[in-house]
Amino acid sequence: MDLQVREGDIQDAAAIMAREFRESTALADHDLSHLQAAFDPRATRTICPACGSPLASSATTCPDCGLCIG
Ligand SMILES: [Zn+2]
Repeated sequence: MDLQVREGDIQDAAAIMAREFRESTALADHDLSHLQAAFDPRATRTICPACGSPLASSATTCPDCGLCIG
């Protein structure tokens, strides 16, 4: 998924993503503390928003948990 937001909207976007993630997965207790990391377009490496594993910014799926990112 490609998502571009203004820097000031990152918090809102992250909140929406977190809510939709919970609604679509029913993982209400899932750890979303890493969610925002995936939104930094300047980072050359990021971390999986689901499991926190390090990812190349070009990765489309998490090699650890299989989350589809791209
Ligand atoms: Zn993962």
